[in-house]
Amino acid sequence: MTAVLVINSGSSSFKYQLIEMVGETTLARGLVERIGSEDAHVTHEVIENGSTEKFEQTRSIPNHTEGFAVMLGAFTAHGPSLDEHPPVAVGHRVVHGGARFFEPTVVTDLVKINIQDLSELAPLHNPANVDGITAAQESFPDVPHVVVFDTAFHQTLPPAAYTYALDAETAKRYRVRKYGFHGTSHKFVSEEAARFLGRENSDLNQIVLHLGNGASMTAVRGGESVETSMGLTPLEGLVMGTRTGDIDPAVAFHLHRRADIGVAELDDLFNKRSGIYGLSGLKDMRDLTVKANAGDATARAALDVYVHRLKQYLGGYFFQLGRVDTIIFTAGIGENSVDVRAETLAGLENFGVNVDAARNEQRSDSIRVISTDDSPVTVLVVPTNEELEIARQTLSAV
Ligand code: AMP
Repeated sequence: MTAVLVINSGSSSFKYQLIEMVGETTLARGLVERIGSEDAHVTHEVIENGSTEKFEQTRSIPNHTEGFAVMLGAFTAHGPSLDEHPPVAVGHRVVHGGARFFEPTVVTDLVKINIQDLSELAPLHNPANVDGITAAQESFPDVPHVVVFDTAFHQTLPPAAYTYALDAETAKRYRVRKYGFHGTSHKFVSEEAARFLGRENSDLNQIVLHLGNGASMTAVRGGESVETSMGLTPLEGLVMGTRTGDIDPAVAFHLHRRADIGVAELDDLFNKRSGIYGLSGLKDMRDLTVKANAGDATARAALDVYVHRLKQYLGGYFFQLGRVDTIIFTAGIGENSVDVRAETLAGLENFGVNVDAARNEQRSDSIRVISTDDSPVTVLVVPTNEELEIARQTLSAV
C-alpha cells in the first residue's frame, strides 16, 4: 500500500483526495468550504469498487487547522481508514512558483518562505496555499509534504516566448514575464496522449487546449512546454468563464481616465465580470451553447468570440511548432462540449485537421480520438486528472 494525500487549498476552502498509487485509484475525496464561518460545509466521498458514498456536514470551522481536524474525523467516521492506508506523503498544489521552482519540491521552512515571497505575483493564491501547508503539517507531522507548482511545467519556455517587450529594467525589478499556469494538467494530458497512442512523448509536437472555467493553450514540443497562453497571471490569453483573456492594456488606461475606475475595480472587472459571463450574462458553457444553437443572438456572438480566440491561438501554435502531431481537448468544456470542439476545428482540413463528426459527438469519460483515421493531425479528448498528476509527482519527489 502506497497512498498519497493530495491537498488543494484556497483562502477559505480546501479539496483533498486520497490516492492509492499502486493501482492509481482514488479511495476518497472531499471538500471543506467556507472555512472561517459558523456554517462551514464538509463533503467527504468514499469510493469503493467504483461506487461512491457521500457524507456531508455543516458546522463551525474557524481556520484551516480545524478544517484538517474535521477531515481526519471524516476519515475515522466514514473511512477509508488512514491506519490501513497511511499516506506516505502529502502533495500540495501551489499556484505560483515564479522562476524559482521548476520541479516538485519537498517542503522545508525555506521553501515556505519562498512561496510566501512569491505572493506578490499571486496575492490571492500563494498565501492561502502556505496556510494550507502549515495546517496539513500539523495534522500529518511525520510524513514529507511536497509542493507541486501550476507554473512548473512552463519553466522550459524559451526566453523569446516568456519575455514581454516591456522596458527590461522594469520587467526585471518586478519579475514581470510570462509564467503560464495549468501546467499540471498540460503535462498530464500530453503524457497520457503519448501513452495512449503508443508513441514516445519526445517525438511528438502537441497542442493542448485546457478549456475549463479558466482556460489556457500550450504548445508542447517533445514533452516540453514551449509556448502557453497564460502570462504573469492567469488573466492573459483565451476568453474564459469570467476573464477577458487578451485585451489591449490601454483599455485599462482608458477606463481609468474616462470612467475613473481604480485598479482594484479593474482587476475585478477583467477577472470576474468579463469573459463569457460579461458578454452573455451566462457562466456555464452548457447554457451558452444551448442558447446559441436556439438562435439567441447574444449567446451566438459570445460563442463566436470564444471560438475566434481559440482559432487565433491554434494558428499561432501551429506556426511555432512547424509540425503538429496531436491536438488535445481537456477540462470541463474541452472534455464535454461537442460544439466548441467542432467549431474550433471547423475548416482546418488544409492544415491536416480532419474531425470525425460522429466520433466527436460520442460521449465518454475515457481518453479517445475524435479525428478520422487518415487525419494527419490526431485530435484527442483526454480527461485531465490534476490530483493524480500531483500524487505522481509527490511520490517521485520522496
Ligand atoms: P472546469 O473548470 O474544468 O471544471 O470546467 C468548468 C466548465 O465546464 C464550465 O464552464 C461548464 O460549463 C463546462 N462544462 C461541463 N460540462 C459541460 C458540457 N456537457 N457541455 C459544455 N460545457 C460543459
